[in-house]
Amino acid sequence: MSDAPHAVVTGGAGFVGSHLVDSLLDDGFRVTSLDNFGSGRPSNLEHIDTSRFDSLEHDVREPFPELDGVDYVYHFASRASPTDFESHPVEIALTNSEGAHNALEFARENDARTVLASTSEVYGDPEVHPQHEEYNGNVNVRGPRAPYDESKRFSEALAVAFQQQYDVDIRTVRIFNTYGPRMRPDDGRVIPNFLSQALRDDDLTIYGDGTQTRSFCYVSDLVAGIRAFADADPAVAAGEVINLGNTHEIEIRELAEIVIEVLDADSDTVRRELPEDDPELRRPDIGRAQELLGWEPTVGLEEGLERTAEQFAEELGTE
Ligand code: NAD
Ligand code: UDP
Repeated sequence: MSDAPHAVVTGGAGFVGSHLVDSLLDDGFRVTSLDNFGSGRPSNLEHIDTSRFDSLEHDVREPFPELDGVDYVYHFASRASPTDFESHPVEIALTNSEGAHNALEFARENDARTVLASTSEVYGDPEVHPQHEEYNGNVNVRGPRAPYDESKRFSEALAVAFQQQYDVDIRTVRIFNTYGPRMRPDDGRVIPNFLSQALRDDDLTIYGDGTQTRSFCYVSDLVAGIRAFADADPAVAAGEVINLGNTHEIEIRELAEIVIEVLDADSDTVRRELPEDDPELRRPDIGRAQELLGWEPTVGLEEGLERTAEQFAEELGTE
């Protein structure tokens, strides 16, 4: 068993991180999660029943603990909900700067292949549509989303610097809106909000006129893309950046209708103010991931919403 490759997942108790942990354990890895449980939850990991897994409470803003024989680092620690950008701006900015630095140093010391979680937010409110990896983005450096957007941009720049100066194998994924079971119902992002509201037959809160678009990816598709990228030949993947997301783009007001229909909810919609700097359009160009990995998403929106709603209903006691 000690021969199993060892992966360290930061943010392993979070939504994406915990699904990544499951996938790695399923494939025989030894996995250590480092998480401060800020937005993650121990309950996301309590189903795990193997001695190949260890969960350590650790804040990535602090230097990493010494761990033996680390082969892979998946750096996924960071709050990711726009509500948190406003309530925890300094923590987020430092998690993605100091924290990224600590993760990259740790990867260098261990000579570990690294996957850095970046985000479609590096494109800001994009003027190019769909967003290709070569697009440099349109981010407001002083806006409410800046602590997240700019620190993620910095983490990417630092990853490129580490790759150049120390020849560490670092791969960066720019994740577009992803959803699924284990998101917190009160996380503040649109799918948790709409599902929680619809399950209680409350009205769904549409920010602005709801014509802004997003493209929603189901979590198992995302994790398959992350794993394929991590496993890809260094000759093509080391130092590379790819978009991962679903290309099915919809308006937020359409999403509200679909949620109400899928859940057969007795809900209406209500309008709320559109937050400042809320991107108007977002859809990934996934050509690079398709070419490099032969990857594309397979789970449709209705199916993904049903699966997510099942877990939410259990958690909210609305079954
Ligand atoms: P999440 O909030 O569910 O998970 C984040 C995890 O990181 C939590 O377990 C949290 O406790 C942990 N964490 C936060 N700050 C930390 C710190 N300083 N030290 C240690 N642990 C810390 O969010 P998520 O949606 O699972 O996001 C995971 C990663 O994916 C993040 O890096 C996020 O930026 C990125 N991402 C997610 C999406 C998405 O749509 N879900 C989109 C783009 C990027
Ligand atoms: N949104 C909404 N109602 C909500 C929560 C979010 O209309 O209750 C909108 C939000 O303004 C944005 C989109 O849904 O246009 C996606 O928001 P989310 O916070 O999920 O992610 P973002 O892509 O903005 O980071």
